[in-house]
Amino acid sequence: MQKLRIAIQKSGRLHDDSIKLLKECGIDINNGVNKLKTEASNFPLEVFFLRDDDIPQYVEDGVADIGIVGENVVLEKNRPFQTVEKLGFGKCRLSIAVDKSAQYNGVKDLQGLRIATSYPVIVDKFLKDNKVEAEIHEISGSVEIAPGIGLAEAICDLVSSGSTLFMNGLKEVETVLKSEAILVANSQLNGEQQILLKKLQFRIQAVKKAKNNKYVLLNAPNEKLPEIISLLPGMKSPTVLPLAEEGWSSVHSVLKESDFWDIIENLKAAGAQGILVVPIEKMIV
Ligand code: ATP
Ligand code: MG
Repeated sequence: MQKLRIAIQKSGRLHDDSIKLLKECGIDINNGVNKLKTEASNFPLEVFFLRDDDIPQYVEDGVADIGIVGENVVLEKNRPFQTVEKLGFGKCRLSIAVDKSAQYNGVKDLQGLRIATSYPVIVDKFLKDNKVEAEIHEISGSVEIAPGIGLAEAICDLVSSGSTLFMNGLKEVETVLKSEAILVANSQLNGEQQILLKKLQFRIQAVKKAKNNKYVLLNAPNEKLPEIISLLPGMKSPTVLPLAEEGWSSVHSVLKESDFWDIIENLKAAGAQGILVVPIEKMIV
């Protein structure tokens, strides 16, 4: 039987969320320590555990059919992949930072500096796009110490909270790229593999939608229903059920996480009571 082979990070920042995503898609994998590959027990999926830097190459060569990797890695390796799906985890930015006491008024201040980075391709493009000439020093790790040891005046590195920069006396001055984990695919999948990928993608989308939405239940006096219903989008339209108490109803609906707080405030103001907000596990529209 045809199987789909997926490459995920062996260990590191994307590993746990990649496994969690597969689990949430109902795919059981036996994730033994120090294993290089494993198979799902209930989906035709083989899982390879690799260094994240190697994943684009494996997918391009067709050793793996699909992979989960940071956009930053795909762009640095300059691969012509289609992003099949953005996955919503592994969020970070690739930023330029300089000594916190340095004067910095704009990108032109990078002119003539030495910039230490593990992302020479992306930084080179950024400098060219901004018509700045600077010297790129490629180093493979601990980039943040480069200014302190006199190797460079600036760095370009991945940042999520900024605390590493702060601890090393640096300040973030430019965001070069915003990144998150993405699902990439080899461009020459056969028909059966494409069907499997579509199946997986369908599940991933259901999980993602569920995460971005909440199920809301509330009680309201019947005379307030028209206003309350007008505030609620719902998947089709809200469900309204009578309460045991005469003149009251229970209203159920689905709200986007991003609109959630605004709508809840308006619902309260319109007379909603006993508002419950419940996570959704899967959402198929
Ligand atoms: P590997 O051993 O697989 O090569 P690594 O050390 O290169 O691992 P990690 O530090 O585990 O990589 O990061 C993997 C990915 O996680 C990054 O490429 C990036 O997409 C994402 N990421 C999210 N937040 C951060 C962060 N604060 N710092 C670094 N990477 C981050
Ligand atoms: Mg790596």
